[in-house]
Amino acid sequence: MDFKEKIRVIQDFPQPGIRFKDITTLLKDGKAYKAAIDSMIEQLKGKEIDLIVGPEARGFVVAAPLATALGVGFVPVRKKGKLPAETIEESYGLEYGKDVLAIHKDAIQPGQKVLIADDLLATGGTIGATMNLVQKLQGEVVGAAFLIELTYLQGREKLKGLDIISLVKY
Ligand code: 5GP
Repeated sequence: MDFKEKIRVIQDFPQPGIRFKDITTLLKDGKAYKAAIDSMIEQLKGKEIDLIVGPEARGFVVAAPLATALGVGFVPVRKKGKLPAETIEESYGLEYGKDVLAIHKDAIQPGQKVLIADDLLATGGTIGATMNLVQKLQGEVVGAAFLIELTYLQGREKLKGLDIISLVKY
């Protein structure tokens, strides 16, 4: 399936000069959404994974279906102040702006093999911060999976050594 054709590009959102990749057009197409998740599962074949960690909010729509398909747990990473139990935090820079991410302190057991999943890899800031959270809890990051990779922002280079899969590249 041509997933790129299912993704809508919005010029100047949320700021002038940004060409935002809108995945809602893919998500509302049941066949395309399922095919995207199935295709990611295919690429992850043979990988040992205990848990999938996804950053809010678009990361949830990728991480959670991957987790149920593999029969492994899902752990949310959220913006600071949203998770109810005790958390650890990490600040990060976005393609546009800055923020703080948090994860529950008891979400990961030491040595658990963690796959990080998000909708899109841009500069790698979000995934870098998510990796740091997982590693602070002594989880082992075994890879990262994305629907979309903006290769011109070179997030992959920033996350050197990380096993990365992505379905659609711009
Ligand atoms: P990074 O931290 O790699 O620079 O940016 C990736 C994060 O920003 C992802 O969590 C993603 O949801 C969000 N993001 C940045 N640009 C876009 C975009 O064009 N489309 C979508 N859907 N998300 C984006």
